[in-house]
Amino acid sequence: MTADELDELDSYADDLLDYRADLIAENETALGAEEGERIAWGQMLEDGVISPTVQKMWVAQDGACPVCEELDGQIVALDELFQAEDDEYDAPPEPHVYCRCSTTLVNEGEE
Ligand SMILES: [Zn+2]
Repeated sequence: MTADELDELDSYADDLLDYRADLIAENETALGAEEGERIAWGQMLEDGVISPTVQKMWVAQDGACPVCEELDGQIVALDELFQAEDDEYDAPPEPHVYCRCSTTLVNEGEE
């Protein structure tokens, strides 16, 4: 292997590491946001700001993966897990990294 080839290999490895770091950082950020939201919802429920009939709904983004497509529009209680065919999920981005889905509050008992 020549020195040039070694350099090339080296920068390829660097790129991969950068990519991996970005991926982890982005996913951690998304996880943190969802966690914050869940804590906030729990607090709102406790304080009576939102009624106990309020539930959460999975909102998939355009081009979501099949798992997220399946979960799209599913509504469960705040302390329940979303049910997919093969697994159950607390909130995005659990199904996969780079998941762009979100959850939102819905209150079907209220007109
Ligand atoms: Zn998703």
